[in-house]
This record gives sequence, C-alpha cells and structure tokens, in this order.
Amino acid sequence: MKIKDILAQGRPTVSFEVFPPRKDAPFGPVEEAVKRLCAQRPAFMSVTYGAAGGARANTAGIASFVQKCGIPALAHLTCATATRAGIAGETARLRAAGVENILCLRGDPPAGGEAVCGDFIHASDLVRELAGKGFCLGGACYPECHPDCPHLEEDIAHLREKADAGLDFATTQMFFDNNIFYRYISRLRDGGVAIPVIAGIMPVTNGRQIERICRISGTHLPGRFKTIVDRYGDKPGAMLDAGVAYATEQIVDLFANGTNAVHVYTMNRPEVAERIMANLRGILAGG
Ligand code: FAD
Repeated sequence: MKIKDILAQGRPTVSFEVFPPRKDAPFGPVEEAVKRLCAQRPAFMSVTYGAAGGARANTAGIASFVQKCGIPALAHLTCATATRAGIAGETARLRAAGVENILCLRGDPPAGGEAVCGDFIHASDLVRELAGKGFCLGGACYPECHPDCPHLEEDIAHLREKADAGLDFATTQMFFDNNIFYRYISRLRDGGVAIPVIAGIMPVTNGRQIERICRISGTHLPGRFKTIVDRYGDKPGAMLDAGVAYATEQIVDLFANGTNAVHVYTMNRPEVAERIMANLRGILAGG
C-alpha cells in the first residue's frame, strides 16, 4: 500500500523504523525484531539505507521481509554517492520485492573514500529521477533547520523545491519540543509547502548518546528533557521508562493537536515500540 493513501485516510497512525544488518551479519536477529515490530501493526515500517551501520545492500532484503509480514515498507535510498545506473538497479530490486514507497535522501558526504560521482547533488535530484515511475515518494525535513543550511527560511525553500519535484510526503528529523514542530508546520504552509508531514519521534533510551547526537544535529533539548537525562542517563532501566514516557507524551500531544501521522524511530528495539503502543491503545482504537 502507498503511504500517501494511508495518510489520506486522516486517522491517527504510528509507523516504525528499523535498520538492516551490517555487511556480512546474519539477517536472523533483525528479522526477529521486524516480526515483533510488525505484530504491533504499525501503519508502515521504514528501513534505513547505510544509517546506524546497516549495510545498504541489505535494505531491499529487509524491506521485502517487512512486506511479507503484511506491513507496507518504506525503503530509504540515498543518492550523494550514487550513479544513475546504481539507482536504477536499486529501484528495480525494490519493485521486484513489491516495495511501493521510497524515502528519497541525499545522504551525507562520504567520510573517506567513497566517490561522489555528481549524478545527484541534492535529494530533489533523486526525486526528479524517480517521479512518475509508480513509487510513492517521501523526503526528509528539518523543523530546526538542516545543519548545512544557514537559515530555516532557505531550508524551507529547498524543501518546497523537493516537494515540487514530486514528493508525496515528508518525515521530520527528531524533535523533543512539540512547539518547534507546530511553528515549523505553520511556516511550511506559509512558505507554500502543502505536502503531508509525518512527525518523527525518537524514544530516548540512551541519555548520553542522545546528548551527542543532538549537539551534532542542532536538535534542541528542552530543560525538562535535560533534567531527565541528567537524572537517569546512566541508569538504562530508568532511562527506558523515562524515554518511553516522554515519547508517549509527545505523541499524545501531537494527536490531540491534529497531527495524525507519527513516525517512531524505534530502531531495532521492539520492546520500546510495544510499550509505546500499549500506552496509545485506546487513542489508536478511536477512543
Ligand atoms: P537535501 O534535501 O538534499 O538537503 C540537504 C541540504 O542541502 C539542506 O541543507 C538543504 O537546505 C540543502 N539544499 C537542498 N537543495 C538545495 C539547492 N538546490 N541548493 C542549495 N542547497 C540545497 N541518512 C542516511 O544515510 N540513511 C538513511 O536511511 C537516512 N534516513 C533519514 C531519515 C530521515 C527522516 C531524516 C530526517 C534523515 C535521514 N538521513 C539518512 C540523514 C540525511 O541523509 C542527512 O540529513 C543528509 O545530510 C541530508 O539529506 P536530505 O535528503 O535531507 O538532503
């Protein structure tokens, strides 16, 4: 099923994210995690491409497994180091696996070694390449501005260009303050970006790691959240409880304020997804 059709239904939905196995690592543990995540009946499940150490070559395989579990898959695809022929091969593999949804990304410049061939400079180039080929296309967006871009206004103009190239929806970078998201949506609409936006929520289970990631990505950590990390960051069990509670609260607030689509960065941790979905059962059932 195409994600644009799921979003068009206009009801509260939660989707999940997984990363595929590393190069030469067995598929078994990731498939076990995917099975448990699929049992929670997310609206769709995204599979990263080269992120979190997962091998790019394994994205199509895991996306195919997600589909076999009866959940629509969203395969991530990056273009910064890709050739046109490489993208054609990857999309052919996805099509053969029945995957109908692709998240079109630039990816980050290579940290050493991989050639940038110049076929694609921005994610919008990839969107243009894939538009009209039967896939539902998503892209990334950044409520707190992409770190390479000097101003949010300019970043929004680039998102509009990406949307005009053929995006069906966009998913946000994680944020921990819903007011930042609400302000962003209002600026997008004022700036002529009309596509549906899925709110990306990260349940934090490793306090120290998130402080580092947020410093790099420029994500604001609200005082209330910092207090939680200071108190529980070194206690994994307590941080898991607090991270699930914080993410649940964000999601409930988003739903209550009319944001229907939430994407949870579950990574490969079904226990996190199970706890969040248990907290949302009544809300998702229409209560
Ligand atoms: P773009 O949309 O190309 O934007 C990148 C930068 O270029 C921005 O600053 C933008 O303002 C600027 N820009 C865009 N168009 C122009 C233009 N015409 N002229 C000048 N500047 C322009 N990375 C992975 O490697 N694998 C993944 O699976 C993955 N999944 C992700 C999922 C989500 C939801 C998000 C938010 C990010 C993900 N990333 C992933 C990270 C992403 O690849 C990086 O953030 C990357 O730096 C930017 O990718 P993009 O698609 O947003 O790029």
